[in-house]
Amino acid sequence: MKNKVSEGKLIVFSAPSGSGKTTIVRELLKDEKFKLEFSVSATSRDKRPNEIEGKDYYFLTVDKFKEKINEDAFAEWEEVYNNQFYGTLKSEIERIRKKGHNVVFDIDVAGGISIKKMFKEDCLTVFIQPPSISELEKRLRHRGTETEKSLKKRLEKAEKEMVFSKQFDVVIVNDILDTAVQEVKKIITGFLN
Ligand code: ADP
Ligand code: 5GP
Repeated sequence: MKNKVSEGKLIVFSAPSGSGKTTIVRELLKDEKFKLEFSVSATSRDKRPNEIEGKDYYFLTVDKFKEKINEDAFAEWEEVYNNQFYGTLKSEIERIRKKGHNVVFDIDVAGGISIKKMFKEDCLTVFIQPPSISELEKRLRHRGTETEKSLKKRLEKAEKEMVFSKQFDVVIVNDILDTAVQEVKKIITGFLN
């Protein structure tokens, strides 16, 4: 008789852009005891110089992205910014869970809430909150990835997203990075055990 394969759980990180969720997720992925694997999203935005196709994102044209929407290939997708689409492929979640690994998502607030609705108690949602909007602006400027226009877009969206923190299972304020990472590790340990 075949052994039943235990399916992995899902941990979603959402936050306004620049809060530090990518930084925190990278730290968590280094800790092998959690058996975490990153859900690589598809996006139609341009690749940043330091990003790797298939590791950070699957970079698609807008047309290709829309084709996948029509094929019902996404568990969730959002037009996060005007004409910049982001989405989680169903195949990506299945691939990771089937291995018995736990899936980690770095997705926007609306996407996070959608995944929670779908997977319920198998899913933990974590909202990474910046200490303030002015600190968020400082971090985004320091990251050096945005133009003045895209920076403004991200800050405007951030103000709206903060309101949704109440709908998440846990809120972590990312002030001192090490402290935030330790807090997240403690919560994940509880959730996975
Ligand atoms: P997000 O994925 O939420 O958009 P990033 O992880 O890219 O955010 O972080 C935005 C910038 O802020 C990066 O340059 C990162 O190095 C920096 N950063 C992350 N956490 C902290 C922190 N606790 N204190 C200061 N800078 C931080
Ligand atoms: P960035 O362009 O900075 O990589 O990401 C912009 C925003 O899109 C971030 O808030 C990020 O979490 C979100 N995002 C990334 N992938 C997905 C996804 O698959 N679905 C949704 N809904 N949002 C995503």
